[in-house]
Amino acid sequence: MSVDQFFASRMGRMKASEIRELLKLLDQPDVISFAGGIPDPALFPAAAFRDAMARALADGQAGVSLQYSTSEGYPPLRRWIAAHMRELGVECGEDNILITSGSQQALDYLGKLFLSPGDTALVGWPTYLGALGAFNAYEPNYDRLDPNSNRTAADFAAQAEAEGGRVKFAYLSPDFANPTGVTLTKAERENVLQMARDLDCTVIEDAAYQSLRYDGDSVPPILALEMQQQGDIDACRTIYCGSFSKTLSPGLRIGWVCAAKSVIDKMVLLKQAGDLHTPTLNQIAVAEVVADGFDDHVDTLRNAYRVKRDRMLAALERHMPDGVDWTRPEGGMFVWMTLPKGLDAAELLAEALRSVRVAFVPGAAFYADGSGRNTLRLNFSSPGPEQIEEGITRLGQVLRKHLPE
Ligand code: PMP
Repeated sequence: MSVDQFFASRMGRMKASEIRELLKLLDQPDVISFAGGIPDPALFPAAAFRDAMARALADGQAGVSLQYSTSEGYPPLRRWIAAHMRELGVECGEDNILITSGSQQALDYLGKLFLSPGDTALVGWPTYLGALGAFNAYEPNYDRLDPNSNRTAADFAAQAEAEGGRVKFAYLSPDFANPTGVTLTKAERENVLQMARDLDCTVIEDAAYQSLRYDGDSVPPILALEMQQQGDIDACRTIYCGSFSKTLSPGLRIGWVCAAKSVIDKMVLLKQAGDLHTPTLNQIAVAEVVADGFDDHVDTLRNAYRVKRDRMLAALERHMPDGVDWTRPEGGMFVWMTLPKGLDAAELLAEALRSVRVAFVPGAAFYADGSGRNTLRLNFSSPGPEQIEEGITRLGQVLRKHLPE
């Protein structure tokens, strides 16, 4: 007797995340890992959270912090986020904000909200692996979103129709994307918005890394650009997903959605059905910590990660053989490397782990069509500066064996 025969058809699309499987293997202390996508734990504002949690659990407060709360989220936190969004150029109120259990939950709910089996989601080639994982459960087709391509809305629509559905959204992470580290220019953001308008679909703007800019000028969120044109968030098609995971703590699982009230209302129904609400205590603690100096904390992060990013880029310049190319991100946590065609990053990972004890994530997992075998992702937020130097030196040695000068 096997229960496997009863699994729903959607489970056919759900595979174990290669990153999670891989992270399990990286506990050995002698491995230098560029494979993670996680913040440096030394930078967590632990003392601020200790105080905030203690206050939230004190006599007289615990009756609220340990209790069920509203599906929309803790009102002071929603208000703080609405003010934060206004600073980013998105004129909105607390009714336009839903607190989610991480932005990952928002991606799941947006898949549930928009995708019927056979519909099309436009995603980058590559894109965030966790977005593909979230959307896959809703059995979509994927087509390639490229803000600079010549394909017209009619081309995308025809393709989606031929596959039995329609294009429902374009998903992208315009600032320091995971996995590429690339940031879209204002013109590229406007192109995506225009394409969505021509296709009459929504835009899911994943802003998980938005605050982590190390140099260069910030570019307005797509939602802010649309606001300038529409004048009213309730007339906007862009749905913005934010997160405190990269700035405060991923373990507390606090993210948010900022969008038209009609979208928030539907997502509240999904939230009620899914987990009722995001943990009350965590929301209260985050509300206190952000009110106490979010910007100062983010400045500390930026200064620390800038050093690591610079260390990685300098080490790559020194140690990579000709023929290897990589991105120079202005923020975020990742550098994306492209190897000459014919080299397979999965094979290279096996060799690098075995011979020099260095890990990274092979790029194919980030492509909806499984291509990109000659690409890989390097994380610079978790390893220390010395480890970055040493790890890139070792990776260069392995690559030199395949690319003799
Ligand atoms: N979007 C992107 C682009 C990410 O990299 C991540 C985390 N790796 C998430 C969303 C999910 O983050 P969280 O659920 O912790 O907010």
